[in-house]
Amino acid sequence: MDIKILDLEDSFIRFAISGVDISFVNSIRRALLADVPKMAIEEVEIHLGAISDEEGKTYESTTPLFDEIIAHRLGLIPIPTELDQLNFKEECDCGGEGCPGCSIMYSLNKRGPCTVYSGDLEPLGDDSLRIKDAHIPIVKLTEDEGILIYATAILGTGKQHAKWQATQAAGYKLYPTVEIDTKKCDHGGACISICPVNIIVKEGKKVKATDIGKCTMCNSCVEICELDAIKIGHEDNKFIFRFETDGALLAKEALIYATAHVAAAFEEVTELLDVMKPKEYKPIKAVKKVFEDEDPEALPEAEATEEEAPEEEPVEEVVEEVVEEKPKKKATKKAAKKTTKKAAKKK
Ligand code: SF4
Ligand SMILES: [Zn+2]
Repeated sequence: MDIKILDLEDSFIRFAISGVDISFVNSIRRALLADVPKMAIEEVEIHLGAISDEEGKTYESTTPLFDEIIAHRLGLIPIPTELDQLNFKEECDCGGEGCPGCSIMYSLNKRGPCTVYSGDLEPLGDDSLRIKDAHIPIVKLTEDEGILIYATAILGTGKQHAKWQATQAAGYKLYPTVEIDTKKCDHGGACISICPVNIIVKEGKKVKATDIGKCTMCNSCVEICELDAIKIGHEDNKFIFRFETDGALLAKEALIYATAHVAAAFEEVTELLDVMKPKEYKPIKAVKKVFEDEDPEALPEAEATEEEAPEEEPVEEVVEEVVEEKPKKKATKKAAKKTTKKAAKKK
């Protein structure tokens, strides 16, 4: 397997992966969507009753939105996630009670008139836990309205709820190939202007394709070329993969975690298969007998084990019995016919 990074930003990555089949690439996609953990707000405590400011003015703790909708909106805000410093709550040393190793607490204290944004969430503790995307609107407050909230974020995965899905738009495509037949091509350049990603260019007097990974395989160049000089195809076992994160994790971190998760899963399956494999490849006596009669070469030269199924009647004997029964049945029918004829003559 070989990976080559084509584009890398904090929350976006595009890379070429080769030497793997499509099921492996898909397993990375699935791990990115369902198994990479991130922090998200899970518990929300909303203050009810009057809220006072420093000057003694009181505000009603009401908003135009239902509390459930505010809690839902808070749950979707990307929370900074340091994967190597955080544990799942149920696996944490605190026994799930909540500690800096498994949860982050935020307070939100705003009074109207104003729009409450994600950036208004104040982390209780390290300032590095402040929300990076500070402009996500949560609710609009009018005059005399206020909001006081304590929210707790914990680690989870997309398997549990979409708010813990660390990556978005994870997908891959076959790695394209663009072949220009120089013998057929008149280098007129009709394909250059039609290409939506501008990867067909003129070098000197010749037309050539550059940065082929960007080809969308739209076939516009093939359709416009009257000389049938361009062929669009794809490479076997090579793909272009891309995905984004919501900012809670770096794209690089998400890829490292997802591939490590897939590797661990394969290891687990291999171990399970080792357990399931019999210690010795020795057929039990009954099985050995059946196959030896058909093809003595079919089984390894191994002794039958003592642990075997109870002896059954040999197959041949059963067949013989059936064969013997058939003439008897015919004879019975003939005898019946004779008896009927005799009976008729007597009449
Ligand atoms: S198939 Fe489309 S994107 Fe690819 S080279 Fe041709 S015109 Fe450009
Ligand atoms: Zn803890």
